Amino acid sequence: MSLTFKKQHDFGIIEFDQDDSKVNLLTAENIKRLDVLLDEVKVKKDISALLIVSKKKDVFIAGADIKEIEDITDPLDGQAKAKAGQDVLNKLEDLPMPTIAVIDGVALGGGCELLLACKFRMATCNSKVRIGLPEVNLGFVPGFGGTWRLPRLVGFSEGLTMILTGKPISGNKALKIGLVDRIVTEKGLDQHILDFMADVHRGKKLKNRFPRKKKKGFLGFLDHSLIGQAIVVSQARKNVLKTTKGFYPAPLRAIDLIKETFYMTNRRKVMDMESAAFGKLAVTDISKNCVKVFYLSEEYKKLTCEGADDIVPQSIDKCAVLGAGIMGGGIAQLFSAKNIWVRLKDINLDAVAKGFQAASKVFHSATKRRRLTKAQATLKMAHITGTLDYSGFKNVNLVIEAVVENMDLKKKVFKELSEVTGKDTILATNTSALSVTEMASQTKDPSKVIGIHFFNPVHRMPLVEVITTPQTSKETIVTTLKLIKQLGKTPILVKDSCGFIVNRILLAYINEAGRLLEECGGMERIDKIMTDFGMPMGPLLLSDEVGLDVGVKVLHILEQGLGERFKAVDIFEKVYAKGLLGKKSGSGFYIHGKKRVPNEKIFGMLKVHGSGELNANECRQRLVYVMINEAAQCLEEKLVDKSSAIDAGMIFGTGFPPFRGGLLRYADSVGIENIIASLEYFAKELHADRFKPCDYLLKLRETGSSFFN
Ligand code: NAD
Repeated sequence: MSLTFKKQHDFGIIEFDQDDSKVNLLTAENIKRLDVLLDEVKVKKDISALLIVSKKKDVFIAGADIKEIEDITDPLDGQAKAKAGQDVLNKLEDLPMPTIAVIDGVALGGGCELLLACKFRMATCNSKVRIGLPEVNLGFVPGFGGTWRLPRLVGFSEGLTMILTGKPISGNKALKIGLVDRIVTEKGLDQHILDFMADVHRGKKLKNRFPRKKKKGFLGFLDHSLIGQAIVVSQARKNVLKTTKGFYPAPLRAIDLIKETFYMTNRRKVMDMESAAFGKLAVTDISKNCVKVFYLSEEYKKLTCEGADDIVPQSIDKCAVLGAGIMGGGIAQLFSAKNIWVRLKDINLDAVAKGFQAASKVFHSATKRRRLTKAQATLKMAHITGTLDYSGFKNVNLVIEAVVENMDLKKKVFKELSEVTGKDTILATNTSALSVTEMASQTKDPSKVIGIHFFNPVHRMPLVEVITTPQTSKETIVTTLKLIKQLGKTPILVKDSCGFIVNRILLAYINEAGRLLEECGGMERIDKIMTDFGMPMGPLLLSDEVGLDVGVKVLHILEQGLGERFKAVDIFEKVYAKGLLGKKSGSGFYIHGKKRVPNEKIFGMLKVHGSGELNANECRQRLVYVMINEAAQCLEEKLVDKSSAIDAGMIFGTGFPPFRGGLLRYADSVGIENIIASLEYFAKELHADRFKPCDYLLKLRETGSSFFN
């Protein structure tokens, strides 16, 4: 039984311990069971308090059951499901005796809403304690009373922020804002609970309870006055529109709900408003796609190597990074942030110093945002040591090479690495597009060679492409996947091939943007078409961010490996030749000053050979469908095992809009038949083979299937 009641001394305990699961969820079944238990508790005269506890390690209640929400197709059904949860939590809130939630792990979504309905909350110091309402990230609003109870408990602006960011907070932060009443050590928890209950019964001011003082000054004005709250709401709306560009309705609806209900006292009415909003949002395509992306993220974060269940990964605590440039400095920082020792090698001291500066800058910004204390940052930074030679390389578990993108140089350093490292050391490359197999051929043991392709900036980008060659051993793959998880990143497994997956698809898109620019001029217009589609930035601004030198170099490699369709368009070659490298040189397609403006010089280099007209719909189709065709070709070549790997790569590696579900989910929503028809049209009209639908797409049409069905 997932939920049980027992009596101990003079108090009752409801214990969550979901059958056959590592976590507790507020499933429909558990809600029904809780309802029955609460009815029983309500009439027990011999209970002086009720505790809600979890038997799971590091988990209080992880949330509602997302699968049940995914199945909702009718807003009224969604509303009824939310109402069922609300009714039970209202019953919990109305119990006559003190109710205390004991939180020793994650309490998210419905789990957080349950603890909000208790009269008291105590949390342990367990670092796994995370409390929050992440619903807006799944495209809906909290539906079990959270939009009302949280702001009323922790204050208007604090509650609004927690609901709009969806970010869970630690136990300490929860104590600080009054979301929990007491923090206790995990050791001696039973005694702490007894002490807490005794204090509750004595009715004395709770020891260690953070005084919920009214905020004073300007913060108090913002929190407690109607004008202040109006300012908070207006600012929150602006921030939401800036970050979501209006693509996600849930945060805006959450703002309205909180604003409208904060002072309302008719609980039934408030709950009806919340459940109706939940029902409407939960059935939208946006929400369904966000839920799919949530599953995608969970799936790839836990990625394993097939057929390697019994292989024990090597432990990694000492690494080396070769090349202290943009990527090397970033990788060294990431390792040291996770307390892995790093030797950072370059060819001169200035270069090593730059790597240190880059790492230090990231730590500095973490201290400014109070993610780390200065002492912690210093301690982490001390994990990096610089070197100009291979001293210390004998003892490292893994080396990651991040020297410039040149095969001769990479082959040379792999040969050297093979000589100077131990026989168990994994040799990895961060190459963007070059053959890992060729680098491995220079080593004594190619089974230890793998590609670990981080994205720039390393500390921010969640994706890592793990590139395997036919010789890479399962042990090397298993160890690498474990390391990526240790680093908090999301891996996808890709077979060694020119440009792998993400750069290959992305460069097809960027090159197409170059062609459109040559046809009709106007980078801002082209970029806007794609930001209107939901991309975080347009393709030409993106190429400025990446650097024209990097982009053109990768295009050359792709052209060599994959043929004519990757030939860099003239405008890219010209801009690169003029040294307009993008952001790093101050200008590229744009001038990157205080305010970013289009670079007039580009217009002088363009021979616009179209009408100058731009059909936004066609333009978007060309840019997106060229990616879909390339992605299908990658599946045809079996570079990844399934379509979801490509969607994970594009969402977590390029920011492809999550509300569209991923590149290939988007393709399915448009329809394979429609995509092929458009590709054939472009191939004919533009006399362009790159648009010829690849065999994989044609086979999908033939068999009446799609990427995900
Ligand atoms: P970078 O030019 O910033 O840095 C390369 C560093 O390697 C330089 O500091 C250089 O002095 C050093 N170096 C050269 N020869 C060396 C040697 N023999 N031993 C040690 N160090 C040596 O380059 P980057 O942008 O950091 O790229 C590094 C690698 O990462 C490349 O393979 C690139 O394709 C890949 N990559 C780059 C990005 C990006 O956005 N910059 C993204 C992903 C992958």
